[in-house]
Amino acid sequence: MIKYHTFDNIPLEMHKVRIVQKLNLIPIEDRLDAITKAGNNTFLLENNDVFLDMLTDSGVNAMSDKQLSAMMIADDAYAGSETYYRLENKVREIFGLEYFLPAHQGRACENVLSITYVKEGDLVPMNYHFTTTKSHITNNGGEVVEFLVEEGLNLNSDAPFKGNMDLEKLEAFLNVNHKSVPFVRMEAGTNLIGGQPFSLDNAKKLRKLCDKFNLKIVLDASLLADNLYFIKMRECKNKTIREITRELASQFDIIYFSARKLGFAKGGGISFKHKEDYERCKGLIPLYEGFLTYGGMSVKEMEAITIGLDETMDLDIISQGPIFIKYMVDELQKHSVPVVTPAGGLGCHLDVSKFLPHIPQTEYPSGCLASALYLISGVRGMERGTMSEQRNPDGTEKLADMELLRLALPRRVFTMSQIKYTVDRIVWLYKNRNLVGGLKFVEEPKILRFFYGRLEPTTDWQTKLFNKFKEDFEDSL
Ligand SMILES: *Cc1c(COP(=O)(O)O)cnc(C)c1O
Repeated sequence: MIKYHTFDNIPLEMHKVRIVQKLNLIPIEDRLDAITKAGNNTFLLENNDVFLDMLTDSGVNAMSDKQLSAMMIADDAYAGSETYYRLENKVREIFGLEYFLPAHQGRACENVLSITYVKEGDLVPMNYHFTTTKSHITNNGGEVVEFLVEEGLNLNSDAPFKGNMDLEKLEAFLNVNHKSVPFVRMEAGTNLIGGQPFSLDNAKKLRKLCDKFNLKIVLDASLLADNLYFIKMRECKNKTIREITRELASQFDIIYFSARKLGFAKGGGISFKHKEDYERCKGLIPLYEGFLTYGGMSVKEMEAITIGLDETMDLDIISQGPIFIKYMVDELQKHSVPVVTPAGGLGCHLDVSKFLPHIPQTEYPSGCLASALYLISGVRGMERGTMSEQRNPDGTEKLADMELLRLALPRRVFTMSQIKYTVDRIVWLYKNRNLVGGLKFVEEPKILRFFYGRLEPTTDWQTKLFNKFKEDFEDSL
């Protein structure tokens, strides 16, 4: 971190911008039309109507000059492409695991692993679930069981590793149930609890525990870049990122990742320590993904991932996201806006149960805040609360452990003044939070409803919020 003579700590970009994209900030009248047309679901907004897109960090990270130039020399062959071997070798070099299979994105890896290992009645322990992971496991008849450490669900904490597994509870569970467990899953940069890391120490202890029961451990490394940064800063100051990565990876039998996040490109893949696991999964790649030397990815993207994985080993590059997120979290806290602490990776998370305590979880407060924030700012966030859950088998709502609005900061995309604008509008919205009301579904898909379900406001609260905006900002956009 750079120290300043005149300022407090302000994050400093270790890159310069060489290609830009024009942004649109449409007037609030048009934003009200757009969010209504989108069924109050920010996934259904058209990007042209969005000013700052903080929906996700998936597939929208800025690429480097080196990635773009590598894409130009991609070797386009259906089978045996040189590009593929470059990627395979890079993954092998970085993780130190021998075998690799390509897949078109993270959930495709989950599909292959769930079909191969999960059967009816199986239990899959993990630190915390991710939406697509859980859907694949339950689709194959399995059940997810979570063993996140207690502080992981505490939204305001200074615990450095909120993504850790509670090993005592896991051990007690395995003593009884280990025969029904196909593998234990660990998620890096634990997404749904605010991009929170686990420690290298926790992973090593988990390895010992699973050895006792002869169990495989699977690492979801999609958000590994942030997790590596936190291990480096909080646990292993004297080790290089490469050393940390190797040591961490050696604790796992299988590592899969979404290259929409890890590697700043688009794609995915699965690494295996053991040949027999690789052989068991191999046949599903040509069936679902594509031939073994592309797995549904374009050769251009594979070249970009190869370079992107190397760039993930550079502290200057992987620190950019977390330091901007910390700046945003600190600024919001100065104005008493409830946010998840400590600041994690992937984005800034607003604590909606404190932001909108007057909206019951059955009216999807995080979805309401996503809709309201877009309306008053053009900033698109993502609901991460009850709307993102799946209903219980009996049709009742599964209320989320946490109600969050995630404002993802895709890596190297936004500038300081854009972050300041966002903070300003969130602070205004917080002051006017009592104007925000509930939502109800008018179209509710059964699986992954948050992606394309449509909702409408339960009252005329959007009109009231619109009027207050006009009163306070007059002719400002
Ligand atoms: C995004 C993500 C996935 C799914 O990856 P896709 O490429 O979007 O299919 C899986 N696990 C985690 C932790 C993720 O963040």
